[in-house]
Amino acid sequence: MTPVIETRALSKRYGSHAALHDLDLVVDPGTVFGLVGPNGAGKTTTLRLLLDIIRPSAGTVRVLGSDPRTGGAALRRRIGFVPGELRLDGRTSGRALLAHLAEISGPVAPGTIEALAERLGLDLGRPVRTLSKGNKQKIGLVQAFMHRPPLLVLDEPTSGLDPLVQREFLTMVREARDAGQTVLLSSHVLSEIQQSADEVVVLAQGRIVARGSVESLRSASVRRLRAVIVDASADTLRAALEGVPAATDVAVTTSPSAGAVHVAATVRGEVDAVVRALMAGRLLDLTVEEPDLEESILDLYSRSETDR
Ligand code: ATP
Repeated sequence: MTPVIETRALSKRYGSHAALHDLDLVVDPGTVFGLVGPNGAGKTTTLRLLLDIIRPSAGTVRVLGSDPRTGGAALRRRIGFVPGELRLDGRTSGRALLAHLAEISGPVAPGTIEALAERLGLDLGRPVRTLSKGNKQKIGLVQAFMHRPPLLVLDEPTSGLDPLVQREFLTMVREARDAGQTVLLSSHVLSEIQQSADEVVVLAQGRIVARGSVESLRSASVRRLRAVIVDASADTLRAALEGVPAATDVAVTTSPSAGAVHVAATVRGEVDAVVRALMAGRLLDLTVEEPDLEESILDLYSRSETDR
């Protein structure tokens, strides 16, 4: 299976500032690939390199089997792109602008623009310069999706959209994937990546700090565990948990009424060793909170920082 996107040791410097270091990225066809990271991580830089808006300082890029430098308009037409900073001006209506863009992007099936606008709640009759940021963003989304390109590259696509429209957008992304299109999505909004991406790369300061499926990131992630235990003393449980590296921020308290011991801990990765330690007594109750991807990613950032 030839990847839709493949970068090797891709690097970009702005003067003395290295915005991207040795990025190796493989995006397989028919997947939704999420690029997550805080401001300044290098997401926009990566996407611009793929579109040949900027050129690499080192490394190679292949997109849909071509080098973006030489792929020209033919390659560009096969990519639906929403830039991070979409600027739209002018007196023309959204309808006229999109009709014009459709002449450049290639064939758009009749009724598609209207149908997409309807789904996103976009008024096509208004001059684009009078549109709010969110409505301009909707024009950006329509132009990216309207010709059903094999690859969609979307830079912070939901910025300015209200939650209902964001949800509709995520449905459009899943439909595109189900139709065999490939979607590369950048975001600092982790929940939208969590809901839509098959694979995720986490960027921080121009480097990959984690990669994998949303599921695998989750299992490498941070959860809160709470347990209620009887038939073991607080001291016994404290001692048992001390030997478990996965458990941190351990708090062990005894409830005065029932004599039960309450344990709260932060767990990194598997819960197995922690639960075994708790089995020093009888486990009355156990709650493991769904890991928070945001917290996990922050944890990965700080770990990659200390590794350096
Ligand atoms: P954001 O979500 O804030 O857009 P990002 O992950 O997309 O963040 P980039 O815009 O790719 O990050 O920026 C990566 C780094 O490169 C940042 O430190 C940024 O300041 C720097 N940078 C980006 N464009 C330029 C430029 N044209 N000249 C100089 N530095 C730049």
